[in-house]
Amino acid sequence: MYHFIVIGNPISHSKSPQIHQAFADQTNLPICYQRQFCPNDKASFAAVVEAFFAGGGQGANVTLPFKEWAFELCDELSDEAQMAKAVNTLMLKDGKLYGDNTDGRGLVADLTAKGVNLAHKNIAILGAGGAARGAVLPLLKQGANVVIFNRTLAKAQLLADEFKHCLKNNQKLSANELKTENLTGYFDVVINATSASTTNQNLPLANSDMVAAVAYDMMYGKKTVFLEHFTQQNSQVFDGFGMLIHQAKLAFELWTAVVVDLKYIDFNQLS
Ligand code: NDP
Repeated sequence: MYHFIVIGNPISHSKSPQIHQAFADQTNLPICYQRQFCPNDKASFAAVVEAFFAGGGQGANVTLPFKEWAFELCDELSDEAQMAKAVNTLMLKDGKLYGDNTDGRGLVADLTAKGVNLAHKNIAILGAGGAARGAVLPLLKQGANVVIFNRTLAKAQLLADEFKHCLKNNQKLSANELKTENLTGYFDVVINATSASTTNQNLPLANSDMVAAVAYDMMYGKKTVFLEHFTQQNSQVFDGFGMLIHQAKLAFELWTAVVVDLKYIDFNQLS
């Protein structure tokens, strides 16, 4: 029996147990995947992680607000976790705490599964928080050109500077302020990685000239103003539910070394 948990605060809303159970059913692996509430302080988080792995647990997912603390706890990190400075997947490797960040690779896997090719394409990311940070390296690894738009320009600029050394050949990465007059021109994909929708705030899209073939909102479970705007522009629109599934799939495969085939799983009752 594999023992997995997802650590968060709050955590009761998490769909990870059902998603991983669906993977377990498809792959015929016995798992027990539980939600683990943790008080919002670093020492408690470290204690929960230590107790779980000392007790024989094989894999832990980490969600808000603990991804940065998980990064700090790790002895070893994947490239994506190192660059994202955040960890959403923990396991022991040779007795050492290993951290990965599967969010950005989950986004890329979902876009790819939806037939969106990213090589040499121009991508706009709105936002420069944790989710945007996690997406930059996986998008660059696909050969995409990326512009990061953020309300606080300095944060977008910092991200662009940090990832500059990851560019290959003629790839481009730049930063811009998220305001109406800058949201202009054609993009193959625009990704909403802001948390504006969670607080019902509007992005400055209404009178912008930005055109996008594909619009992807990392948020899921709600028809956002972002997706409504791009639906009216006749863009292909997607919410972040597929990203949630794909980041979980990558974690499951890392922990079990067994590949999940999503085509045999119906997630409609969860979305
Ligand atoms: P953070 O708090 O780290 O970052 C929030 C970002 O949103 C910042 O760039 C912030 O800009 C920007 N922002 C917030 N409010 C506004 C506003 N009113 N107008 C413009 N910009 C705004 O959040 P995360 O990066 O962790 O999460 C972002 C989104 O991604 C959330 O909706 C989250 O649910 C989703 N997500 C989805 C996942 C999935 O699997 N589908 C996985 C991870 C995240 P500033 O810097 O100026 O404050």
